[in-house]
Amino acid sequence: MKMRTRMAPSPTGEIHIGSMRTLLYNCALAKKSGGKFILRIEDTDRERYVEGAVERTFEVIKDYGLSWDEGPVVVGPHKPYIQSERLDIYKKYALELVEKGKAYYCFCSKERLAEMREEQEKKGFPTTKYDKHCLGLAEEEVKKYLEEGKEYVIRLNVPKGEKINFKDEVLGDLSFPSDDIDDQVLLKSDGYPTYHLAVVVDDHLMEITHILRGMEWLPSTPKHILLFKAFGWDLPKFVHLPLLREADSTKKLSKRSGSVAAVDFLKDGYLPEALLNFLMFLGWNPGTEKEIYTLEEFVEDFSIEKVQKSDLVVFDRQKLLWFNGMYIRGLDIKELLEKLSDWGKKFDVKINSKDKDFDLRVLELIRERLRTLSEWNELTDYFYNKPEIDGELLNKYSGSGEKTKEIVNKYLELYESIDEKDWNFENLEKVSHELLEKEGYKPKEAFMTLRVIVTGRSFSPPLFNTFEVLGKTNVVKRMSSI
Ligand code: GLU
Repeated sequence: MKMRTRMAPSPTGEIHIGSMRTLLYNCALAKKSGGKFILRIEDTDRERYVEGAVERTFEVIKDYGLSWDEGPVVVGPHKPYIQSERLDIYKKYALELVEKGKAYYCFCSKERLAEMREEQEKKGFPTTKYDKHCLGLAEEEVKKYLEEGKEYVIRLNVPKGEKINFKDEVLGDLSFPSDDIDDQVLLKSDGYPTYHLAVVVDDHLMEITHILRGMEWLPSTPKHILLFKAFGWDLPKFVHLPLLREADSTKKLSKRSGSVAAVDFLKDGYLPEALLNFLMFLGWNPGTEKEIYTLEEFVEDFSIEKVQKSDLVVFDRQKLLWFNGMYIRGLDIKELLEKLSDWGKKFDVKINSKDKDFDLRVLELIRERLRTLSEWNELTDYFYNKPEIDGELLNKYSGSGEKTKEIVNKYLELYESIDEKDWNFENLEKVSHELLEKEGYKPKEAFMTLRVIVTGRSFSPPLFNTFEVLGKTNVVKRMSSI
């Protein structure tokens, strides 16, 4: 069967990393069957609408290397794909339900609704629900109010005492008592549909066959089932995906632990390929040891049967770093440098850079330690700027200021005597060890001291490779400053 899947973000802020996971799964499922993946913008909540969020959503999806077959910009047979441009459609369907007796006009004022809620709370109702007051209005009365132009909403007439049964393709058969469900507003007084009406109408009209969405939407599904049935439409298949939680908490992702918006992970210097690879495993498991997947391989391997049956899945930020490091090391060095420079431009970060040749040599040296592009500046600072030296650290390995001076001066004399053309890793290593032996220094006291005076730190790539790349002038200058 050719599948038609969709992702329907609401522009209420930056698109969440969890939504990118959902998008990835929907996209893969459609691609796998030669079907279509639809992007739809659900912007009917005007109070929470964030200016520019729609355009940024498009951009970030593309930056992650994903795309859609039908939707805004690319268009398709079911256009428009932006809900605020489809208001007439929702109204028509809401009225159809009223006609069928499955929905009804409600003219209750805000004050009445507030009073009703207060009373229900006083009585200790677990949740407050609309009391179906307007369902009892006579036809004549409704007509009169409409003619008078009285403000109204349209509500779904949820049947009492029924069981709403449906199957989730992963969770299995589920059943919800209809008595727990409020008479949902379908059409608001501003003429906009609510999420429930718009999502069902569009999923039907856009011929969606599979709905993969986050577990947070599970409580809405019985309402949607009621709507599909009220219209007499076939049900799509539903899959509710596990929510993401922090590794050290049972709670969902939190800004306190790091980024949560999809764009922020790019800003943090993660490569899209690594992010996608990480996201693949947040709710899906191939059942093998294989961890590195290209998008094509994932499309090939992805199936609903392999979606995890669980409420929550760990968003292991350490694992994401690991994936990113793997992808960074897997890239051709020139390509990596280009990505670094593009990243700096895109996110307005001034990255350490001198000339391409020098930058490549530095990158070669530090690439092993580079886990995100954003670590570049911090990892390479001493290649581009003279470091500040912490006196205590400088004397830590020699034991005293005097000894430090002695070591540095002996090596300074040696390095000054090296011809520029012999300033290379092999020669530096050879002559430095000869001097070590001659003076009877311990490797750690001498070489760590040199490392600190030249780089300002006790961690750096191998010392003589670092010296080679830094060049004689820099090394000698830094050592002379003792
Ligand atoms: N507009 C909803 C969202 O913001 C879509 C939920 C669904 O997939 O039905 O995620």
